[in-house]
Amino acid sequence: METTQTECSRCGTCCANGGPALHVQDKQLIEGGAIPVSHLITIRKREMVHNPVTNRFQKVKNELIKISGVGKEWSCFYFDPDQKGCTIYDHRPMACQALECWDTEAVEQIIEKDLLSRADLIKDNDPLRQYVIEHEASFPCPDLEAILKQGVTDQSIELEDAANREVAFRTELVSRHDLSLGEELFYFGRPLFHLLISVGARVRESEGRLLVNWPSKE
Ligand code: SF4
Ligand code: SF4
Repeated sequence: METTQTECSRCGTCCANGGPALHVQDKQLIEGGAIPVSHLITIRKREMVHNPVTNRFQKVKNELIKISGVGKEWSCFYFDPDQKGCTIYDHRPMACQALECWDTEAVEQIIEKDLLSRADLIKDNDPLRQYVIEHEASFPCPDLEAILKQGVTDQSIELEDAANREVAFRTELVSRHDLSLGEELFYFGRPLFHLLISVGARVRESEGRLLVNWPSKE
């Protein structure tokens, strides 16, 4: 007999698939301390992410802030897999409140609208603010979608050079400001070389330098 789902069965699948993008309505959760920035990750403009509504890997049009995953997994940091529950249920973000997997209309209404960005959360007097701006200007996310479609063509040397300079940039700031990994991922997002790996690059280290190879060019 066919059944039609009408309420949440608390299966946890949505939370295991990844934390939500935050909206301006969620700002108080961060400012009030319910969600520290060390549990957030910045997804920069032009990164490729899984869109849960379209179920496709898509280019991010504008920067967004997500709750971070666990280790190398995207499963939401606040998801308790044993209880299949949310450990911040009373303070869960707006997208989590709107999500009804059996009827995506409410969540489709808010997707890509009124998204929080680092500019909303980093105070003017934060000593890292100027470096976030400098990082974005010096190391913007490359057009990963184009790399996926067309390969790297003639940019491979520039990308390898940028990946090395970017690691040096963030390593110096992490050391100088004693940043945790979570704080680093909020302020600067994922390292450039991670983004290149996500679209097919092979990266290894040799004598203190990252070597970036593209399988189709080897
Ligand atoms: S919203 Fe859907 S996927 Fe998420 S926990 Fe509830 S039933 Fe599972
Ligand atoms: S914040 Fe809570 S409800 Fe939202 S994805 Fe994470 S565990 Fe699930």
